[in-house]
Formats: sequence, structure tokens, C-alpha cells
Amino acid sequence: EPVNGPLLAVGQLTKLFGTFAACDGINLDIRPGEIHALLGENGAGKSTLVKMLFGVLAPTSGEIVWQGQPVRIVSPSAARKLGIGMVFQHFSLFEALTVAENIALSMDPGVSLSKIAREASDLSHAYGLPLDPHAHVADLSVGERQRIEIVRALLQNPKLIILDEPTSVLTPQEADRLFETLNKLKSEGRSVLYISHRLEEVQRICDRATVLRHGKVTGACDPRKETPSSLARMMVGSDVAHV
Ligand code: ADP
Ligand code: MG
Repeated sequence: EPVNGPLLAVGQLTKLFGTFAACDGINLDIRPGEIHALLGENGAGKSTLVKMLFGVLAPTSGEIVWQGQPVRIVSPSAARKLGIGMVFQHFSLFEALTVAENIALSMDPGVSLSKIAREASDLSHAYGLPLDPHAHVADLSVGERQRIEIVRALLQNPKLIILDEPTSVLTPQEADRLFETLNKLKSEGRSVLYISHRLEEVQRICDRATVLRHGKVTGACDPRKETPSSLARMMVGSDVAHV
């Protein structure tokens, strides 16, 4: 295993729903300490791809290599044990429970609620996403609910954190705060897989981008070296797009 090899490498990863290929032979690698964008229009296959990386969907074919080792990620808990955290587009929180109680549901049994509450509160403040662990989810804004999901992922000390269209539910101020958090994660040497269809935020915070269209990779680039129109061409297709 080369020291500077990718944290995660995906080879020819394919997901069929019936005969429809939502992901069609995807190749992608994520390096340690980078913010990597997965960019594509609605329906491009972004969520399907990351659900395979987090053990929510089983690939039809292809390979996932984690730190140089081929792996089968059979469940979210298997993904978490490898060091992969995920913040979904649609949250799975119980409204009637507190922040800490929600987080406890995804932890190994036996960890005390007071310990979870303390650690969640500490982490949320350390990463600039303050949360009251005793608040009820029903009383929280959508941005605060997203913080729960982020803190839940961070409690597992992930090497890779995947966020699926996180800014779609945030105000511009909340998005700025999230970007600071992502830069902190990067400065700690963690990798971020950042899913978006918004060019300007990808150009602002991401070190590399993999562009998907109709389940296929149409570009891999440094988004800061591209113009918005060249990125848009990779997303929507054109005779002149490089592949
Ligand atoms: P994105 O996240 O890029 O918007 P998705 O990965 O959600 O795209 O979806 C890619 C394509 O796969 C879409 O055409 C979508 O309708 C289809 N798709 C996603 N999930 C399923 C499913 N469970 N069954 C059938 N088709 C699906
Ligand atoms: Mg999606």
C-alpha cells in the first residue's frame, strides 16, 4: 500500500435498478485531506453512488478499495467502523427525542447517555456547530438538525465524511459556517466527499471535483482551474466537454 495512495478508490462501480444504470462504471479516488466534490445535475447518480459507499445500497458490480484493501461495505455500521461518516440529504431523526437520544440510537449499546451528551456538546462547539444535547429535535431548525447528523458522524472519528447536498437546506450564513467546519476537517487530514450541483460553492471550497452525468464520470478536475461554463458543460453535456 503506497503511503500517498488514495484513502478510497472506486473502480467500475455500477448500480442497476432493473435494467436502468443509475451508476455506470464509475471510477473515482479520494485522497487524504482533500475536499472532493461530486458534482452533477439532479438524477446524475450522486446519491446512489454514496449510498453504495455507506453500505445502504449493494453495488451491482465493481470494486471499492479502502486504504489499499478491497472491501465490501455491507451496512452503515460497517461503513462507520471503516471510518466513513455520512450526512444524508434527508435526515432520519426522531422528533420526540432529544439530540443526545437520537445520537445514542446509532452508537454501540452500553455508552451512557450522559457521556454521549457531553461528547456531542463538546464536539459541536469545537467544530463551530453548537448544539444543546438536551434539546428536542421537534424544536430545532433544519440547519440545527443537520448539525446533529454532522456531530453524529464526527463522534465516530471518521477519516472520510460524506455530505449529500448539505447546503440545500441551509441559509447562506449557515452554509458559510458549514464551509468553515469542512475546512477544519480538512486541516485535520480528514477527507470530505461533498455532493452538490452548485458550481459556485464547489469552486469555493473543493480541491478536486468528479463530475457525473447519467451515471457516468464526465470529468475529473481542479474546480478552481475551470470556468463555471466548462464545469457546466461537464454536467449537462456538450460536444466540446473533455472526458
Ligand atoms: P442524484 O442524487 O444525482 O440526483 P440519484 O442517485 O438519486 O441522483 O438517482 C439517479 C437515478 O437513479 C435517477 O434517475 C433516479 O430516478 C434513479 N433511482 C434512484 N434510486 C432508485 C431506486 N431505488 N429505484 C429506481 N431508480 C432509482
Ligand atoms: Mg441526490
